[in-house]
Amino acid sequence: MPADATLTELSELLHRVFGHREFRPHQQKVCEAAASGRDVLLVMPTGAGKSLCYQLPALALGAADTSDPDDAFEAPGEQSQLEPGRLRRRTGLVISPLIALMDDQASKLEQLGLRVGRVHSGLDREQARAACRAYLDGELDFLFIAPERLRVPGFPEMLARRKPALVAVDEAHCISQWGHDFRPDYRTLGQHLQALRPAPIIALTATATPEVQKDIVRQLALEDAAVFITGFRRTNLAVEVIELSKPQRAEYTMNLLREKAARPAIVYAASRKQAEELAGTLGKKFPAAAYHAGLEPATRERVARAFASGELEVVVATVAFGMGVDKADVRTVIHVALPSTVEAFYQEIGRAGRDGNLSRTVLLHSFADRKTQEFFLEKSYPEVRELERVAAMLTDEPVAMESLCKPLRMDLETVQRAIEKLTGNGVAYVEMNGEVRRAAEPPRAMRWTADYELQVAHRRSQIDRMIAFAEGTDCRMAALVRHFGDTSDRIVSCGLCDICKPNEASMRDPTREELGWMRQALASLVSRSTSTGKLFTEIAPRADRRDFDRVLDALARAGMLTIAADTFKAEDGREISYRKATVTYEGRTADAADLDTVRLRDETSGLKSAPPRKASRTSAQSRGDRVSAPAAAEVELSTEQKALEERLRNWRRDEAKAAGRPSFFVMADSVLRSIAFSMPKSIPELERIKGIGPEKLDRYGAAIVGLCREG
Ligand code: ADP
Ligand code: MG
Repeated sequence: MPADATLTELSELLHRVFGHREFRPHQQKVCEAAASGRDVLLVMPTGAGKSLCYQLPALALGAADTSDPDDAFEAPGEQSQLEPGRLRRRTGLVISPLIALMDDQASKLEQLGLRVGRVHSGLDREQARAACRAYLDGELDFLFIAPERLRVPGFPEMLARRKPALVAVDEAHCISQWGHDFRPDYRTLGQHLQALRPAPIIALTATATPEVQKDIVRQLALEDAAVFITGFRRTNLAVEVIELSKPQRAEYTMNLLREKAARPAIVYAASRKQAEELAGTLGKKFPAAAYHAGLEPATRERVARAFASGELEVVVATVAFGMGVDKADVRTVIHVALPSTVEAFYQEIGRAGRDGNLSRTVLLHSFADRKTQEFFLEKSYPEVRELERVAAMLTDEPVAMESLCKPLRMDLETVQRAIEKLTGNGVAYVEMNGEVRRAAEPPRAMRWTADYELQVAHRRSQIDRMIAFAEGTDCRMAALVRHFGDTSDRIVSCGLCDICKPNEASMRDPTREELGWMRQALASLVSRSTSTGKLFTEIAPRADRRDFDRVLDALARAGMLTIAADTFKAEDGREISYRKATVTYEGRTADAADLDTVRLRDETSGLKSAPPRKASRTSAQSRGDRVSAPAAAEVELSTEQKALEERLRNWRRDEAKAAGRPSFFVMADSVLRSIAFSMPKSIPELERIKGIGPEKLDRYGAAIVGLCREG
């Protein structure tokens, strides 16, 4: 077996086995890393071609197995199935959370002539047994398993008897409770995978924020992982965000889709009811149907197929629609309600324009959406008190969940939700047959409740981030790319979104009153930065808050002020989010003529039809921000430290220039000085420095540590 697969070998497999002419962007270096035996974390958007990144290295690494054949499956009375003369090979083990995904991938590989086994709950015992036998006999190229299989006694041990060539964990974000599809069964993966070493582990996902990425690395115990986070920029999507009250959204959607060029389209609704209603309305004008989890599987299937074939032009869906939708020519994706996370939003708009042609995505939102999200949050995260009551009922004896309803006086749904949260926090354990008991070693009460509170707070911050995105004043695509921690992408203006290219038809001049607000806001910000709420109460307390905010947003778009999401700690310890306005150099020096050029979003124009716009590129408008950073602590630096500070400053300047951002955005002076002072030579050392959060660490950690080591 080659220790290292060379590029020629990988290319050869790419052509011969997969029939692809060349690697897609980024695939080659990922394959090389995995094929050299390294652990890998790969974050790339859906459709980018992640599967190949584990399949190719698995084949290269598994090519022939010279390990001791005693490991093979030799149960009494059963003969090895291996044909004489055929080389045993080591298998690529793939852990995948959805049976449908697994079956789809398995059958694709089988069509390529590869030998694939599957073990999941949709198969009967004999099939699963045959797959295990083939695995142990070294006959399989790939074995797909569902994560809950690892809970079956003896199964992990069976796997470990013949070490796999490579272990792929697909949809790896499911491991993180910060991820939006948290799967308790993924939680224990890490402990089982260690027995399969030295096989490299490759974790793949399309939706991981820097936080989730860290979680994956930690929980799977990836060693010195090669991390690839790329490909999030979509150059053919015009992302627009429009503030619009709920009752206006149906008509607006109708107008957006009126032009033939705007269809096929997917409209995402917040609830089944809303999906049904809107599908009914839109159905009067074009072939449309609803799609949600409440429909019969056969109906859903029919809708998906009719949409794929072009018979239906519009699908109004809940989040249930998407996995497996592979329609290349979706021209428009509209959200008629605020999605619950930026990740979900990105995933959903990502279904537009897979064919590479210009497509439009429109998010409709208003303040009322925040309320809806909070309502959902409270519903899906029961109060700690409620969880504690359920936890107190659990013993070592497994019981059916139904049996808990009566004594607890809760309905089944409530009990199930509580059990789900308790399982996720290691308090409860659900058996394969669905019965629930106390976990073998439940955590201390204080610890799990604290963990749980953190999860709720995290969920809340996800909503805040979605709102911050909607209210943002930066290029939409740049904001999305940044959200995912894609550090290779430095483009600050996409030239297509509503920020980079405001739709002139939907803009208007400010009124005399609004001009007055602008002057006062800029004047008031000269002496300090402050919250937009405070500006409102000072300047226009009797006006409609939304009208006032619209004026501030217009100033931000014109580069005269910046508005950033920020938080402060209230007296009761809660984190409060707010929008902080800071005047820029342009804002300080703006005169009446400059203010006259500021254009506002015309909210009434929302009801006129607006066809998709032609692509064009505008250059980024760099905003020369002159806000002074907090004064650095007055410490005396040594010559060596001073030299490092100088290097850091130069680096920061280049970084800021590349990002089109003020340098304090990269790093505050005080933090820079602390780094120069402590000269961290490793990432963990750097992490201890105040002001270096997870995002900064991910983004700049390697570069900074590199500079520190230079000295
Ligand atoms: P992901 O898991 O990232 O969502 P997949 O791995 O399912 O994406 O790949 C999406 C599609 O791209 C598949 O149909 C796959 O065959 C195709 N594909 C992947 N790599 C290549 C390549 N190098 N050349 C051509 N097609 C590719
Ligand atoms: Mg995939």
